[in-house]
Amino acid sequence: MTPPTRNDLPALNVADLQSLLRRREISPGEVIRALRERIEAIDPNVGAYLSLDFDTAEREAEHSNVELPLGGIPIAIKDIINVNGQPCTCGSKILKGYHAPYDATAIQKLRAAGAVPFGKTNLDEFAMGSSTENSALKSTRNPWHLSRVPGGSSGGSAAAIAADEAFAALGSDTGGSIRQPAAFCGVVGIKPTYGRVSRFGLVAFASSLDQIGPVTKTVRDSALIMNAIAGHDPHDSTSLNEPVPDYVAGLEKDVRGLRLGLPKEYMIEGTDPQVRTAIDAAIKQLNSLGAEIVEVSLPTTEYAVAVYYIIATAEASANLARFDGVRYGHRAHNPKDVLDLYGRTREEGFGPEVKRRIILGTYVLSSGYYDAYYLRAQKVRELIRRDFAGVFEKVDALISPTSPITAFKVGERADPLQMYLADIFTIAANLAGICGISVPCGFAEVDGHRLPIGLQLLGKALDEARILQIAYAYEQSTNWHKARPPIR
Ligand code: GLN
Repeated sequence: MTPPTRNDLPALNVADLQSLLRRREISPGEVIRALRERIEAIDPNVGAYLSLDFDTAEREAEHSNVELPLGGIPIAIKDIINVNGQPCTCGSKILKGYHAPYDATAIQKLRAAGAVPFGKTNLDEFAMGSSTENSALKSTRNPWHLSRVPGGSSGGSAAAIAADEAFAALGSDTGGSIRQPAAFCGVVGIKPTYGRVSRFGLVAFASSLDQIGPVTKTVRDSALIMNAIAGHDPHDSTSLNEPVPDYVAGLEKDVRGLRLGLPKEYMIEGTDPQVRTAIDAAIKQLNSLGAEIVEVSLPTTEYAVAVYYIIATAEASANLARFDGVRYGHRAHNPKDVLDLYGRTREEGFGPEVKRRIILGTYVLSSGYYDAYYLRAQKVRELIRRDFAGVFEKVDALISPTSPITAFKVGERADPLQMYLADIFTIAANLAGICGISVPCGFAEVDGHRLPIGLQLLGKALDEARILQIAYAYEQSTNWHKARPPIR
């Protein structure tokens, strides 16, 4: 293999980059410089990054040990995860000017594995949204079609991977925010089991639903990142103290004889016919690889979105109370008294979607409504969890579209309710605390452009190795992951 030129370095995946680094055909410093050139050329059009620090990254890269699991691999980070010394805006004006005073545990673990964080990616404000349009700071575009959204809320991370502006990225997923943008941008994204990856240093949106996970070009790369970030953390009492398998070692296992469940409730009215065609073809493909496909039922599916928007907003209203102008970021000028300080700081600092959710969340927690909404939602959440537990006694994994639609036009979904429905297939996994992955499975032709489609695989708690294995078998038997967007 001839060593790639600086121009085609950014197109490599993590595994290929790793072998070049280990053979000393390129140096970690060169990798950062090539990435910098690519980002400077492309990002004015894509808008994936909120901040970049190549100087620090280059210094760190020069000292990296390429024999480490991710030695010298640059990694992009969603701007809701703290990276020591770097801005952490959460896509909000309220955190403008705030710099993180420490590394999140996931960042510490990546550094220990040799990876080099170099930039923070755009997101919906506090991860609330499905298109990255709720960012108060920047507009991110889908590299496959620049007038369309990249999905959200980890839209910057997914767009960066699709546009070869990063080799790997971290996102966070509360109701679909890794899987849905991965689907819209034609890349791979995993939401790990609740508790698999530490949330320490992830700015909390909905603490009982949030998880950090990788966004990558290939399934193998996601397994490599999972190997580095998974595991128990004494700083996060909800992190699970369970052994972490070697996710890469398990990839090549045969899928023959595995049982894949097709939830009949996921074949809904309103699914784009091109999405349905692609999913049908993917099911046939998995079947031809030896997996058995069985229809299953998750009767509580229809309640998932409603339950999510009660629980997530309730938790958000409590979590976001800390942004009061006293401790972090923006502070209103010349307050009359402390209540005026709190009120105006929040009025000026938060965008409309965040305010809507704080109001909703406060409402469902208020006395008199607590029992009718919040408590009832918790009970239905338990039923959703049981639905999945029952189904996973019969099948090894579930299969569905990641999203019923492909990337929509910027500005097209102005109605918040319409936006909430974009997550109909991803939200239940967070409520149940199970794991899920989105892997590219084809394209829709829309207005003369190709728009990516994602296949979702859901696994029972702590079964990441299984969904990675199935996704890998599928990916290796297709060419979808090799397609690159037309952007140059
Ligand atoms: N789109 C969903 C929401 O707006 C999920 C977001 C997420 O997973 N962070 O809440």
